[in-house]
Order: sequence, then structure tokens, then C-alpha cells
Amino acid sequence: MPDADEFVVTPYEVRGKVDYDRLRELFGTQELTPELLQRLRRLAGGELHPLLARGIYYSHRDLEGLLTAFESGRPFFVYSGRGPSGPLHTSHLAQFELCRWFQQRLRVPMYVQITDDEKFWSRAGLSREETVRWGYENLYDILALGFDPKRTRVFFDSRSIAALYPLAVRVARKITYSSVKAVFGLEPSANIGWIFYTALQTVPAFWPSWAEGREVRCLIPCGIDQDPHFRLTRDVAEGLGYPKPALVHSRMVPGLLGEAAMSTTGGSEDGALFLNDPPKTVERKVRNAFTGGRATVEEQRRLGANPEICSIWALWRTRFAASDDELDRLTADCRSGALLCGDCKSRLLERVQPFLRDHAERREKVKEWAESTIVTEAPRPI
Ligand code: SF4
Repeated sequence: MPDADEFVVTPYEVRGKVDYDRLRELFGTQELTPELLQRLRRLAGGELHPLLARGIYYSHRDLEGLLTAFESGRPFFVYSGRGPSGPLHTSHLAQFELCRWFQQRLRVPMYVQITDDEKFWSRAGLSREETVRWGYENLYDILALGFDPKRTRVFFDSRSIAALYPLAVRVARKITYSSVKAVFGLEPSANIGWIFYTALQTVPAFWPSWAEGREVRCLIPCGIDQDPHFRLTRDVAEGLGYPKPALVHSRMVPGLLGEAAMSTTGGSEDGALFLNDPPKTVERKVRNAFTGGRATVEEQRRLGANPEICSIWALWRTRFAASDDELDRLTADCRSGALLCGDCKSRLLERVQPFLRDHAERREKVKEWAESTIVTEAPRPI
């Protein structure tokens, strides 16, 4: 756990000015080195996803072992999930976009878990109907990123329980209450659904190995704040006869109001750009966003601005700069004072609005086949 005085990063809270190298040391993860990135680039046919090339993903666990196995012909899949409690915002997409990239470049299967049960157990204010409805809404957004229906499988927990449960039974016997409590910080008053959920979240990492009766490794892209969740999965893997899942960790995308991470849990909705925000709301949020600019135009022209602390620059870096060259030019112009924040925001809006329009069209189309990706049956009894 990080020093509370400096910053706090847990699966539920990101606060303060995060020192990501220090966090990596505290969590005991490995650096995503230039050599490892080069290896990925080669495997992917000569290009890296911008989230990798621009350093958003910066840390990993066991990625080297997974790539070595893949290079010798052994399969792996990517896995990511979503707890459906509301609409997705742009920073939620980072993990799914990297999964899609792996699927497209390395032609590997993708497994998505929609944890409608967990959100019902953990959020007292949400009804079952709401978590299920958001589950579908979020699933359409995820699939609309360009996943291949033939290589994508979805565990929608309450609908996929027959497929998950036989393996969850075995997993649950390996996880103790004290380890769940240590990771999730559960109080004695926590409902028992929340406690059991840990087993269900672990199942997808092993499910393809179980279903295919051979070793199929798992790679999980996630924010580094989610690493503790998957430590439990890794801890029980070998005892169940499955390989430990590998992880690649991203930095957090800062919130629009200057928060350490874009999130709406306990914060303002204006801190995040939601995929279903109407254009006027998007404009207002971007115009009001926290920047690294100066107090006056004259000062900014003279002294330049600070992109490292700017929420708008973070959006350019993580998603909207079309190339590394464009990002470098924009960063240099920001630092020199050649670019003013109002103009920078106008330019960003010209990218964000069409992106959201196109996304809305794509998500309508995936509704035709989304249902076919949901797994409802176990491959065999256990
Ligand atoms: S010019 Fe753009 S990147 Fe630089 S501080 Fe202003 S809004 Fe941020």
C-alpha cells in the first residue's frame, strides 16, 4: 500500500499525486521495458498500440513468460470486465482497446465479464433491473470498439452462471474469507454475495483452459489500481492446476476537474466524459476542464503551459492525438506558449464529437450479434 501522505491507490480509490514508478515498486510489478515493447511490436507486425507507445501502459506481471509461450506456439487469450453501475466514460475504454488490439494483431480470443451480480451486491442504491440494464448498455459500448464476434465470448454473470458455477465451486474452496477481506476491506456487515463474488471474478482467467482441456494462458490489461483484485486470482491459479494470469497495467487517466483518476464514484459527473453525453454536455465539460494553462493569455504566450498536469492533454495523449507526431507537436506548442488552452480545447472538441457520434452508430450495429457472444453453458460437468 502506498504512503498515505503522498498518494493512495486501491481498487476503490485513487487520490493524490501518484508516483507511478514508486507504485510499481510498492506493488512489486515489473517495468514494461523498451525491449519488451519492441518484442510486442515485432509480434504485432511492426506497430504498437498508442496506449503502449505513449507509455500509458507501463507495468506488467509475467508478460514475458506469456509471450515466450506464445512464440513457441502455445495459445493465450485476453480478459477484461466491467461492473455495470452506469454509463462508460472514455477512460474505461483503455483496457478494452488494448484487448481489441491484441485480438486484431495476434488473433487471440477475448473474454469479457459483465459483473451485474457484483454491482448489485456492492452498491446498495442499485436495483437488479438497473445492474442488468447497465450490463447490456456497457456490453454494447465494449463490443462497438471493434471486437470480432467469432473470437469474443461474454460472461454476463447472472445469465452465464451455469457456465461459470462448476469452476467457481472449485475456485471458492481455494479462497479464504481472510484473503478476500484483506483485498476488499470488507466489513463484518458485508453481504455474503459480495464475498463469493471473488470466486466468480476469478473463473474467466481459467475457463478456457478448463473448457479446452489444455493450458490456455490469460492476459489481463487493467489499471494498476486493479492489480490487487488479480493477485488473489494469481495466488490460487497453480493450486487449481492453471497458469497464473499475466497482467499489463496502465496509469490512470486524470479526471476533467483535476482528479487523479477519471471516475464518478464519489465524485462529480463533470469529471468524466461519458460515451452517452450529448454534444452540448461534452462541450461544457471540455470547456470547464482543468488545464495546465496560465492565469492570462499574455502570461501563457510568454511562459508557456504545463501539459503534465492538464486533463485535456491527457485526453490527447490517451486517445485523440492521431499520431505520436501530432502529440509531440501539440505538447511542444503547449510548452512554448504557441498554443492557448481555448484553442486546444476547440481542437479537441473537433475530435471528441465525431468520435462519440461514430461510436453511437457502431453500438447500434453490434446489438444484432451481441447476444450470440454470451456464454450460457458449461463445456462439461465437473
Ligand atoms: S494548451 Fe492544451 S495541453 Fe496545454 S495546458 Fe492548455 S489545454 Fe492543456
